[in-house]
Amino acid sequence: DRLVGGEQSVEDRAIDAALRPKKLDDFIGQHRVREQLSLVLHSALRRGRAPDHVLLSGGPGLGKTTLAMIIAAELGAPLRITSGPAIERAGDLAAILSTLSEGEVLFLDEIHRMARPAEEMLYLAMEDFRVDVVVGKGPGATAIPLDIAPFTLVGATTRAGMLPGPLRDRFGFVGHMDFYDPAELEVIVGRSAGLLGVRIADDAAAEVAFRSRGTPRIANRLLRRVRDYAEVRADGLVTRDLAHAALDLYEVDAQGLDRLDRAVLRALLTKFGGGPVGLSTLAVSVGEEPETVEVVAEPFLVRQGLLARTPRGRVATPAAWAHLGLTPPAVPGP
Ligand code: ATP
Repeated sequence: DRLVGGEQSVEDRAIDAALRPKKLDDFIGQHRVREQLSLVLHSALRRGRAPDHVLLSGGPGLGKTTLAMIIAAELGAPLRITSGPAIERAGDLAAILSTLSEGEVLFLDEIHRMARPAEEMLYLAMEDFRVDVVVGKGPGATAIPLDIAPFTLVGATTRAGMLPGPLRDRFGFVGHMDFYDPAELEVIVGRSAGLLGVRIADDAAAEVAFRSRGTPRIANRLLRRVRDYAEVRADGLVTRDLAHAALDLYEVDAQGLDRLDRAVLRALLTKFGGGPVGLSTLAVSVGEEPETVEVVAEPFLVRQGLLARTPRGRVATPAAWAHLGLTPPAVPGP
């Protein structure tokens, strides 16, 4: 569990439910998706029909599950939650689909990780509200068509590009969730603080927001760590100085980089003169597996414009030198 990782930790799981906004109007940020979704839902309600299937794409912790819950709540419909990895066979999906009630919202998280045969079953279900249940094996196998209740599928994926075209095409609405800007995260931190009974100064909330990598889940997590610090080392009120000290203690810097991010950047700058250097060499120099560097550290460094992946290897940008307070080597003149 990484303090600045977007994935849900065990502690997050226990607290996420309490922090989730329950209505579209309380959902902060993502203005475009919110407005588009509001139209889809309200027009469906007006027509008395289930809305089109909804696909939400975006990184972990940006609020896809929260939006799925809000969709069901706004429609006044029950919600069933499952995920791609939980559906290993078509039969697993058939069992869920055949027991949905009319208008129910089915949230399928990590939809890109569903087994292939189940995916094909889902095409038919989404389009015709029907599944073909195969009975028997080999040449004697027969497909028995089974009608299912009209439902709304809300699919979530962190990898929209990995979804097969035929599946993507069956969603009437695709919402792309972006990273949040610090002002929006500040509002989220303030709201969560209120719900958790944490007293936090505005500039301290801004400090937490700034270091949260554009991700509400990380903002909520950092808020809990600064709360702990303020409770143990002071009187509980989170001031900017206390937030600063707590986040420094947890090695989350002003841009939200953690120890691993900085180690990678520092090695790139001090051992390889800013690159280019190959991924495996860079990884060995920080004592990590190449995959860890590539999957865990690099995406955020690239997003922050601190590191570039080039065909010749990893290269630091001028911003990387500035971030670590180092001076780039002088470029030899012509
Ligand atoms: P994953 O893909 O890892 O399941 P997710 O995208 O589904 O993540 P959520 O579980 O919906 O993310 O959100 C994570 C946490 O962030 C929740 O506790 C939720 O309260 C909070 N959150 C997310 N988006 C918002 C928002 N727009 N406003 C307020 N809180 C939010």
